[in-house]
Amino acid sequence: MPELPEVETIRRRLAPAVEGRHVTELRIDDPRWCLPLDPAAVVDAVAGRRVERLGRRGKYLVWELEDDVFLLMHLRMTGTLLLDPADEPPYERVRFVLDAGRHEVRFCDPRRFGTGELALGRPALDAFFDARLGMEPLGDGLSGAALRRLARGRTAPVKAFLLDQRRIAGVGNIYADEALFRAGVHPLRPAGRLTGAQWDAVAEGVRGALTAGLAAGGATIDDFRDADGAPGAFQDEFLVHRREGEPCPVCGGRIVKFVAAGRGTYACERCQPRPRPRLRRRLPSARAGDPSGRPGRAP
Ligand SMILES: [Zn+2]
Repeated sequence: MPELPEVETIRRRLAPAVEGRHVTELRIDDPRWCLPLDPAAVVDAVAGRRVERLGRRGKYLVWELEDDVFLLMHLRMTGTLLLDPADEPPYERVRFVLDAGRHEVRFCDPRRFGTGELALGRPALDAFFDARLGMEPLGDGLSGAALRRLARGRTAPVKAFLLDQRRIAGVGNIYADEALFRAGVHPLRPAGRLTGAQWDAVAEGVRGALTAGLAAGGATIDDFRDADGAPGAFQDEFLVHRREGEPCPVCGGRIVKFVAAGRGTYACERCQPRPRPRLRRRLPSARAGDPSGRPGRAP
């Protein structure tokens, strides 16, 4: 599934081609894309309007149109947006025609999980994201202290915490594994028990993994293509993700795979020590002089 770097890679390629242009035509071939909205209502809101800006929030791509109309696209599992493809791309669901055919953007999505939603007015946009998304990890808000505050008292594994879009927006399975490896923190460590130094390292790890992913044009495992139809290259630079059995790039130990937060997870358990289960403290023996703490045998 495309995560923040993949969506941002698409956005950066599309933005110069679509910003400042008018959506001459919006063609929705698959009405499921914008459920529960009627496709005619979406077309009515979007067609004819100028694209002020193509933005991104978390894994959402945001078409900011004139009169504060916002079209929010989520690519989900297999969605891609292609700019002026040379051949007819398969699995097209939605087409944007800009400035009467100067450019075309095709939304292709074999598994059809991608969605399109509308927000009319800035307050509606803010309410939409406030209900769904936490901080932007490449913004100023991400810090160890901020993460620690959010995680206070939480017993779920830190990997589940990173995947929760309401805490940090845009991190998915790939970048969570890479970030935790960079931080030297085991994915199963309960989020509420990380130290301040560990949270600082996690914040740094998230930023580092996402930045590296962006620099490589995203990661392509199955379907991701950028707006020119080219795969990303970050999968070749994964430190641990999908590298089960390979040597750790830091210590040479073997990378292992296990399940955390319900997802296939990769780590080096030498660099990222597995948390030990907390043992209940044994009650001291009532009988003085018995260092074993075991009750004495009756005579
Ligand atoms: Zn290692």
